[in-house]
Amino acid sequence: MGRKASGNWMNIAQHFYWSDEQLQYFAASFRQQLEAAEAGDPSSLSALPSYMDLPDGSEKGTYLALDFGGTNVRASRIRLLGGHCFIIDKIVSHPLRKEGEYDYTTKETRAEELFDFIAATVEEAAGGNVDCALGHTFSYEVSQSDCHDARLVQWSKEMAVAGVEGNWINQLLKEALRRRGLDRIRPAALINDTTAVLMAAAYQYRHTHIGVICGTGFNICYYEPEKSMVINLEAGDFDGMPRNQWDERVDEATRFPGHHMLEKMVSGAYLGSIYRETLKTYFDTDDIPPCTTPEMNRIVTAGNPDDARLRLSRLLNRIVAPADVEPLRNLAGTILVRTAQLSGAACYGILQHLYPKGHISRQSIAIEGGLLSHIRGGLLMFDDALYGCAARRGHSRQQGIPVEAALVYDGPSVGAAIAAAVADS
Ligand code: ADP
Ligand code: MG
Repeated sequence: MGRKASGNWMNIAQHFYWSDEQLQYFAASFRQQLEAAEAGDPSSLSALPSYMDLPDGSEKGTYLALDFGGTNVRASRIRLLGGHCFIIDKIVSHPLRKEGEYDYTTKETRAEELFDFIAATVEEAAGGNVDCALGHTFSYEVSQSDCHDARLVQWSKEMAVAGVEGNWINQLLKEALRRRGLDRIRPAALINDTTAVLMAAAYQYRHTHIGVICGTGFNICYYEPEKSMVINLEAGDFDGMPRNQWDERVDEATRFPGHHMLEKMVSGAYLGSIYRETLKTYFDTDDIPPCTTPEMNRIVTAGNPDDARLRLSRLLNRIVAPADVEPLRNLAGTILVRTAQLSGAACYGILQHLYPKGHISRQSIAIEGGLLSHIRGGLLMFDDALYGCAARRGHSRQQGIPVEAALVYDGPSVGAAIAAAVADS
């Protein structure tokens, strides 16, 4: 790098490492804020009701699913077979924006135009005006008082379409379907993506009460038996943990400093930037190019040191000394490990809430998302954080924790179909 690396990587990495005791403290704080949110007291967490009960795996029938909340609109036709099984008959996916062709995300777009586009995508999946209930996974901030529909409070991500905020989403969809002559398709449920992931996992594995999304963003929901419904915690907003100087630097450069604190420490949208900040310290220079989270992860997962060195040199746009390769890989590794650790510890906080007397029942925790699923050993480290939280003097780490992370695929679509089945019954 033209200069000798100044930093001992461990001087940086130690600030990303969480001991069992620190994880226990984190979990306790998460639980405390969860219970405050539930009681309506001040909390960085929310406790948003979904009005959605969990499936028991016996739900049957053909349902339409709509997943809307990212860069693509995805519609599918899904057959629930009962017996915890399903078949996805068809999936249709269209980007909301196609360079030089169309863009349904801008404030110049009218609500009708956006929903006509969505209805056309639904028609492709449905194959016509079929008599069928539709479940809608809609991942923006909403307010709702039952599971059938919700009002959009505020767009986020890149969405700015006029005339949608303040309105009922499934009502807009219903009107668009009617305009296309699809009046027999019945929007029956509206849930967010984290709830959908939990619904999909509960249908397949049955004993699942917590759902985690860790991709570009981060969120957790859980099933609250006292209310017989799934509760969305907006867990990315949690702020009850210490941050280090590199976290703070990344936060300061964001649009809303001081908000979405946990998300900024653990999600795919930010880890690459955190890594870049640590590289600035390591090399004692501000001249470090931007780095994405997948690029950072590929440095860790590279097959051998030469391959890692090549990737690092490409990333930094300079030749990296062989002696710097392992330190820089380790540094990236600790940032990724922290994501798995804090996700696991947050879930342990929820388990403590669900089982205040101990005796946690056997279960899977549903995990979805492009980040946690790509971190090497991510699920094992997630489980290990649970065990670390439960570790007490005189006990083995795993004692009393019959809990395992389980990856969920197609959660937002499958969960939407299941939500339609539950809401329509
Ligand atoms: P979204 O969260 O937008 O719904 P995904 O769950 O597919 O989408 O997650 C995508 C995110 O996951 C990307 O923004 C990126 O941060 C992260 N990601 C994707 N691929 C990898 C990878 N190979 N290694 C690490 N992170 C990845
Ligand atoms: Mg997603």
